Amino acid sequence: MIRIVENSIPGQGPTNPSPGLEVKQIFAQNGVLQTSMNLEHRPQQENMAQRVSESLHLDSSLLFEAGTGVGKSLAYLVPGLIFAQNAKRPFIVSTHTISLQEQILKKDLPLCRLLFDQVEHLRKYRDFQATLLAGKGNYLCTSRLTEALKHQAQTELFEDRERKELHRIATWSQEQGCDGMRQGLSPRPDFEVWDRVSADSSLCSRKRCSPQSCFYQKARDRLATADVIVVNHSLLFALLGAGMGPETETKGILFAEDFLVLDEAHQVPKVASDYFGSAIGSYGVALTLRRLWDSRKKKGLLVKWGSLTDKSLVEEALEATDALFYHVRENLLGDHDARRVLNAHALPSDFEMPLKRLTDRLRELSLHLDNEAASIEVKDQTEKLESMVTVFRAFQEMDDPENVFWVERYGKRGAHVQLRITPLDPAPMLKTALFDRGVSAVLTSATLTQEGTMDRFSGLVGAEGIDSEVEKSPFDYEKNVQVFVARDSPDPREVDRMPYLDHLSELVFRCAEAQKGGTLALFTNFADLKYVDQTIGSRWKKLDRELYVHGANLPRHLLSKRFKENGKGLLLGAESFWMGIDVPGDALSQVIITRLPFQNPNHPVVEAKSEKTRSEGGNPFSTLTLPEALSRFKQGLGRLIRNKSDRGLLTILDSRVLRKSYGKRFLSELPKKDYHSFSLSTLRDEFLARGGFEP
Ligand code: SF4
Repeated sequence: MIRIVENSIPGQGPTNPSPGLEVKQIFAQNGVLQTSMNLEHRPQQENMAQRVSESLHLDSSLLFEAGTGVGKSLAYLVPGLIFAQNAKRPFIVSTHTISLQEQILKKDLPLCRLLFDQVEHLRKYRDFQATLLAGKGNYLCTSRLTEALKHQAQTELFEDRERKELHRIATWSQEQGCDGMRQGLSPRPDFEVWDRVSADSSLCSRKRCSPQSCFYQKARDRLATADVIVVNHSLLFALLGAGMGPETETKGILFAEDFLVLDEAHQVPKVASDYFGSAIGSYGVALTLRRLWDSRKKKGLLVKWGSLTDKSLVEEALEATDALFYHVRENLLGDHDARRVLNAHALPSDFEMPLKRLTDRLRELSLHLDNEAASIEVKDQTEKLESMVTVFRAFQEMDDPENVFWVERYGKRGAHVQLRITPLDPAPMLKTALFDRGVSAVLTSATLTQEGTMDRFSGLVGAEGIDSEVEKSPFDYEKNVQVFVARDSPDPREVDRMPYLDHLSELVFRCAEAQKGGTLALFTNFADLKYVDQTIGSRWKKLDRELYVHGANLPRHLLSKRFKENGKGLLLGAESFWMGIDVPGDALSQVIITRLPFQNPNHPVVEAKSEKTRSEGGNPFSTLTLPEALSRFKQGLGRLIRNKSDRGLLTILDSRVLRKSYGKRFLSELPKKDYHSFSLSTLRDEFLARGGFEP
């Protein structure tokens, strides 16, 4: 039964209904959405909006799975905006992907404004303030820019290329409407130059700068008065992980008295793990040190403000950290991309003294420099170095058994290496940060349940005992989807992988060729993806159809855009393409799952979690590996049907779905029960003759 929360507001009469009733009036059959906005009535959306509204009024949390097409963003934005304005409390909306963040800011919130404008008694909600919360480093600091421009002629600080970049940033900052956010400058600014002029510095002081000329202060002011604040999961958990948020005794998650909706919540456990842990990389350490003194280019802060001895201290620190990362690369990683480190004191011990000598000296220098800006810049770099030393030490000591200590390559072609400390189980931290704060946290996504229950997800995010609800997709999958499963594919785990890869390439080609619209083929690793690309690429292009290859030369968002515009292409995608790509219509009329998306069991974090499960008497495959793969599988399938009129094929090329006992679990996650099996040799009769819808 749906309860309507009748929180009456003093002075409201019958023509001025309570907020819970307002939400009902908007989403109900013949409600405002339908009559004034010409949007269809969706009972699932109506229920979700009511449940969200109820949770907000009770300051209670909620897990809500809303299948594709429920219209979940309006179902939380509308009650959230009404509640925020009546209660005068900030409403935080967090998403995982930039595309959803943009959709909320550019499409959904303006739609809410329009909706509130339609009815007289809702008009009071129309003028809500919305803003984006971005990390400080995303904003241009006009004070640092002025300093940099003043010293640009000094060759010890800037090279020609960097000087040009500085001028480009300065010109852009003067443009009308410029909000000083890095994302607004196209092409994106050079990382190193931006690092010197961004607001992410202890130089920042409101007292010294005029709020009118400071982009960051303006953004903070907008934040202070905003009714709704949009953020991404990474920043949210970075802030929560760094202990931001109201005092323990004040209720609220990120701000006092706020309330939070996390969309794309299936990503929360992974993002929280990453941001509740620590990482320190070779690139970042070298950049910080070279910012002080770059002996090769003869530039850096210490050219002007330091002595010869100071520069030598930087060189010694760089030598020590270079040696440390060399040890990580050669001895800890070897041929691996990522590897767990099991023993304490795995790093060479002599890195610490040179860093300590340097930071001690820099502290002293920053206290005695006459030039305030230089003093604060030196202090800023010192603090960065000190926080790096803290991570090095924690890695060296390994005294927290609840963390996994590991090393990995990162950056282009794995050019850099980093140390990672990741919590084994972020659930207790999530519980403290989200559910024990006395306010409402609503977590929603199209894929939270498995086998019809929310138990697994609740456990992952520390939400045991929190209310949960599911609204299935209103789309007609029975009618609009056909499922095909290949029954004779070689096992992808065979030692000799060539038969598997050749078979896979042929199947991908022929299944995609058979569709007049576009096909998205999802891979679990880049090696298989590249093999298929090399094997079928030229044949595919002879069909006069485009091939889009993840990781080749276009960034992800451009690949998706071109694939969408083309309408009949083949997109080979890995990793992030399993989620977050939204291509309605015939441009994506088939999703091919090339292989069941099991995680690499040798990944350090997976390995450590499996070990823990085993030590507690559990079975890592059934409790960790399989549920994780099922969740990703569902995400992949969800790429196909994006709206009511979408139709298409789900084609699964991994025959383990039919051969292995766990295959049934995957089949049970399909949006419909019936499927056709086919083989390469009978493709013509069993796939080509049956599959496909006329575009
Ligand atoms: S207040 Fe901080 S970010 Fe703003 S201009 Fe001044 S130093 Fe830069």
